[in-house]
Amino acid sequence: MTKKIDKTEIGWNLDNSYASLPDKFYTSMNPNPVSSPKLAILNKPLAGHLGLNAEALESEEGVAVLAGNRAPEGGNPLAQAYAGHQFGYLTMLGDGRALLLGEQITPDGQRFDIQLKGSGRTAYSRGGDGRAALGPMLREYIISEAMHALGIPTTRSLAVVATGETIRRETGFLPGAVLTRVAASHLRVGTFQYAAGAGSIDEVRALADYALQRHFPEIDSKDPERYLKLFQEVAKRQALLIAKWQLVGFIHGVMNTDNMAISGETIDYGPCAFMDVYHPKTVFSSIDAQGRYAYNNQPIIGGWNLARFVETLLPLLHDEQEEAVAIAQTQLKVYAEQFHENWHAGMRSKLGLFNEEAEDESLIDDLLKLMQEHEADYTNTFVALTFGKLEAAELFEAPEFTEWHSRWQERLSRQQQSKEEVLELMRSSNPAVIPRNHRVEAALEAAVKGDYRVLERLLAVLADPFAHSTEQAEYAQPPEPTSGPYQTFCGT
Ligand code: AMP
Ligand code: MG
Repeated sequence: MTKKIDKTEIGWNLDNSYASLPDKFYTSMNPNPVSSPKLAILNKPLAGHLGLNAEALESEEGVAVLAGNRAPEGGNPLAQAYAGHQFGYLTMLGDGRALLLGEQITPDGQRFDIQLKGSGRTAYSRGGDGRAALGPMLREYIISEAMHALGIPTTRSLAVVATGETIRRETGFLPGAVLTRVAASHLRVGTFQYAAGAGSIDEVRALADYALQRHFPEIDSKDPERYLKLFQEVAKRQALLIAKWQLVGFIHGVMNTDNMAISGETIDYGPCAFMDVYHPKTVFSSIDAQGRYAYNNQPIIGGWNLARFVETLLPLLHDEQEEAVAIAQTQLKVYAEQFHENWHAGMRSKLGLFNEEAEDESLIDDLLKLMQEHEADYTNTFVALTFGKLEAAELFEAPEFTEWHSRWQERLSRQQQSKEEVLELMRSSNPAVIPRNHRVEAALEAAVKGDYRVLERLLAVLADPFAHSTEQAEYAQPPEPTSGPYQTFCGT
């Protein structure tokens, strides 16, 4: 990696290793200025972690950078090119409303992309305006930070700046905003698809070498198996990530291949949402009529996306295509097994089980079936089991549940761990709060009108989801049943 480091008062320490890839991979450009930027929210702890001075970021100069009115010192802003399968169809995409400012090297030597989202049109904008609305950018801020606090790998949100401009959306005119997104990188499965489609095997190799260097430096750059290892590591991270989503009831909503990061982080908080009532087929996205990205489909789609990824690597896996395909197929099976293992291990922890028994699978499946049948709240059911407070839910009154509960109690008594140890495991595996849709909506509604108190309170509660505090109990309430199905929208 190149070492080109500049320092300013803000603490920028930017490198631009992505720009060392062939020209095809990006278009250099400056952000498009906005009329009157105003800081809506700044993530001070994250700024500190990045080695940035939060006070300086709040200053006029700092806000100008976060708004895209001024490039940060040492940055080389560029829009990244990528492709992607959107709902199964391959399209050329690219950063249509985002710009990579540079890669911040933190005081402890980590490297993070600093990206503006909503920063105006680029060479890849197609018909779009390149802009983003304040509500959806604050939504990404809330949910990505909640995911981070839940221990789920994710891109993070450094700041949201209101642009002072209005943008036009289907629902009317909305206040515009720019989000500063922080990511281990923005390399996607779609970046590889772009390289394979628009370039040659040399471009794919250059990208694969770059991804290896950036995310898996422990793999020797001369190792003849390095491209296989790249795939294995990416697949392993996805198998963990998607298991973590399932365990908290997170539905990404738009798992297109351009929205699957090579780093294993959750990326692109468009139509995502958390499930209240447990149902495996839950879908929130207004455009996902077929349920392609429904809750229970996510692990399968993860495999489908990884298949698109490995396809781009085939010539690097073996000289003989048939051999390469056989290797790829074996690895895709490994992904499915790893997902299953991670998910089961996570579910056992949610039920306080330290060891593994053959019957655990049916114990877990039977609980989920009962939850579905009795329309139980996903998060609250596990919290109720954790604290033995089996009240106020139809599920707990069902005779089949009583039966299941005795089986579970017997199962717990067969392991040597004490009640306290079981409680501790369950407490730290079952969050007290998730960013419930009605709470997120209430916070956004107030914020867009200029009152950030509801949002600040929500963020505080979500910052420590395993605290199981008194204040969190209020936030654990599911929405009123009268409020109807929740819908989310893309690209806003
Ligand atoms: P997404 O659904 O957010 O993953 O976006 C899919 C593609 O559409 C990406 O290439 C985005 O950059 C692009 N895009 C989304 N919204 C806009 C917009 N308002 N203007 C231009 N491009 C956009
Ligand atoms: Mg995207």
